[in-house]
Amino acid sequence: MSDDATARAVSALREHGPMTRAELARRTGLPKSTVSGVTAALVASGAVHETGTAEPLGARRAGPGRGRPGTLLALDAGRGEVVGVEFGASHVRARVLDAGHGRGPGAVRRLPLAFGAADALDATLDLVRELTTRPGAAPLLGVGLALALGLGPALTPPPTRPRGMRQGWEELDLPARLADTLGVPVTADNDANCAARAELLWGAARPYEDFVLLKLHAGVGGAVVIDRTVRAGRRGGAGEFGHVPVDPRGPLCRCGGRGCLEVYAGVPAVLGALTVHPGGQPTPHEVLEGAAAGDPACRRALRDAGEATGQVAAWLCNALNPQAIVLTGALSGAGELLAGPVRDSVSRTALPLNADVDVVVGALGRDAGPLGAAAQTLASVPA
Ligand SMILES: [Zn+2]
Repeated sequence: MSDDATARAVSALREHGPMTRAELARRTGLPKSTVSGVTAALVASGAVHETGTAEPLGARRAGPGRGRPGTLLALDAGRGEVVGVEFGASHVRARVLDAGHGRGPGAVRRLPLAFGAADALDATLDLVRELTTRPGAAPLLGVGLALALGLGPALTPPPTRPRGMRQGWEELDLPARLADTLGVPVTADNDANCAARAELLWGAARPYEDFVLLKLHAGVGGAVVIDRTVRAGRRGGAGEFGHVPVDPRGPLCRCGGRGCLEVYAGVPAVLGALTVHPGGQPTPHEVLEGAAAGDPACRRALRDAGEATGQVAAWLCNALNPQAIVLTGALSGAGELLAGPVRDSVSRTALPLNADVDVVVGALGRDAGPLGAAAQTLASVPA
């Protein structure tokens, strides 16, 4: 049994979480006999535990003829843990993930709207220290950041970043400063990519090999997952579907384009459409509540956002032929009131060959970003 085979098995368990010996063989490319030997040694040493049997992942993956479910193997949670951190417009949210992919506690810090990078650094350090000094915490292996920022050599805000949010973000290399202060590796990724990774591991995207995620939030973002891997593109810019034009003669977008999806399907667009609402312009929460209670204007605003989203989703179906479109972000809290119009719009607009796609709502809500950021870090730290 080689050290290389052991490292590959451990690395696969870190990246993908608990799996059967058969899946471990498939993911590592190692012969089943090698996997059997490697895992026996890892179980004997306590580095890996058997944690029950595999649950079906849905008809597309399980299917007939795949045999009986196997025993799941997971890395020992005591090997360490990572903290995933997501930056919202006025808060920082963190969540712990252990080496065995067990989801630990979380915490939130409220900050002023459009906070700067220095505040982000302080709040992150505060949250990480709070979570990692709790009783029973395993050693900290790394920190992952989910950012609504373009990623370059440093963190460079894209032109879509509101002016107020630029405060110090160009100058401060947040991952490097955190890594220096905490003494652990720090990774960063786009927030939609992080959400896609989390929905793939624990949420609504578990049954799918290929899907597109659309995040309908203050901004509109997205992610492309092919063969259960997030495809970020050459410079990390893949998935910016919020700036695909829905109507080239439509309203100006903050990116400088016209009629982008974001000006129809972002939270500000939905709230803006409801300035005529008899009760005055509602909050995002009130829109979801109103729609659920049958308020016709709230429902119409969500339907319009869903239909615009469906136009872009149909285009994505024709480009990529995914198994599913996964909706996340604040507007996805509307559930079927949003997903239904997206599905209808896709089936009307995409080629029949590509219109057979599941349109589902993410299952992890606000935890998707922090958990996906944590998972990326866990996959990247040395075994
Ligand atoms: Zn735009």
